Amino acid sequence: SSPGKKRFNIALLPGDGIGPEVIAVAKTVLQKAGSLEGLEFDFQEMPVGGAALDLVGVPMPEETFTAAKQSDAILLGAIGGYKWDKNEKHLRPEMALFYLRRDLKVFANLRPATVLPELVDASTLKKEVAEGVDMMIVRELTGGIYFGEPRGIKINENGEEVGISTEIYAAHEIDRIARVAFETARKRRGKLCSVDKANVLDASILWRKRVTALASEYPDVELSHMYVDNAAMQLIRDPKQFDTIVTNNIFGDILSDEASMITGSIGMLPSASLSESGPGLFEPIHGSAPDIAGQDKANPLATILSAAMLLKYGLGEEKAAKRIEDAVADALSKGFRTGDIYSPGNKLVGCKEMGEEVLKSVDSKV
Ligand code: ATP
Ligand code: MG
Repeated sequence: SSPGKKRFNIALLPGDGIGPEVIAVAKTVLQKAGSLEGLEFDFQEMPVGGAALDLVGVPMPEETFTAAKQSDAILLGAIGGYKWDKNEKHLRPEMALFYLRRDLKVFANLRPATVLPELVDASTLKKEVAEGVDMMIVRELTGGIYFGEPRGIKINENGEEVGISTEIYAAHEIDRIARVAFETARKRRGKLCSVDKANVLDASILWRKRVTALASEYPDVELSHMYVDNAAMQLIRDPKQFDTIVTNNIFGDILSDEASMITGSIGMLPSASLSESGPGLFEPIHGSAPDIAGQDKANPLATILSAAMLLKYGLGEEKAAKRIEDAVADALSKGFRTGDIYSPGNKLVGCKEMGEEVLKSVDSKV
């Protein structure tokens, strides 16, 4: 290896459907942007999901998990497809993602909702409302009502069935997600909105108390609070007011899907899932899109932007990340569009060609 270069191990998990197509493209972009900032990557490509089922009979092979666990960051394509839909539960491709998230202990899920100036027309909202939207939702991913005990369907004292779920958050769980959110806001426009239901839920009362207490450590971040019902409304009424949002597992699940519709194009949206000390998991929010797999039609930008998040939030390499984001904007401003974001007057391209255009833009902006 050449002196002065920083080296990183990247686990590449292409998965199924359009996964291998978008990962191949994102890899070249990551490599190029990194090399311009003095970064060298050792890529380890491993099967996962349906691809792993076909190859070795399990969705998450031990070797894949070990490579992922020992890497500096993981870039994943997509998982699943019709072929394995009738498998019994532990042999479904999707279980790979469940195991991976669980064992990596990724408690922080970051999902941006950004309306790029070139794609304002793709938004489901009116132009004036959509223009300039640029927010990041930080969702707690390993706690809250999805995991709290007691849970289950039980029989009460009257012999009637009752369904039980418990919203429970320990102080340390709130603190660590809040820290990720404050740090994220700091890398953005310095505004953090914490979303809860502190007028009704006790877990939310503690949430608000802990987040408020931490604010003194981040004097450069402006903290506000909002009830979740109001937040759901504000996201549609005036999404531009938000920079960074932090919220619990269930509210984040709902609000991040709502926010994704503001941008209007599933093929554009990246995500990051971060743990306390291990590697982060970076992946597009879309699925394996079996309807267009193998046809060179997939939009690779969600995965390319996931690679940018990998650089920024996984490796702390913000300059290289910015190169990728700028190159995506540049390719779009030149009119290149895959089918999912196409509008008349633009140039329709496939997955590979879109990747080549982004690559050219990375190169031309040295
Ligand atoms: P999941 O696998 O998470 O259940 P899903 O089955 O709900 O996902 P996707 O696989 O994301 O959904 O596909 C939904 C629709 O969006 C499909 O019509 C698919 O072709 C389209 N789509 C998804 N990702 C892309 C992409 N990167 N480029 C173009 N179209 C896409
Ligand atoms: Mg699906």
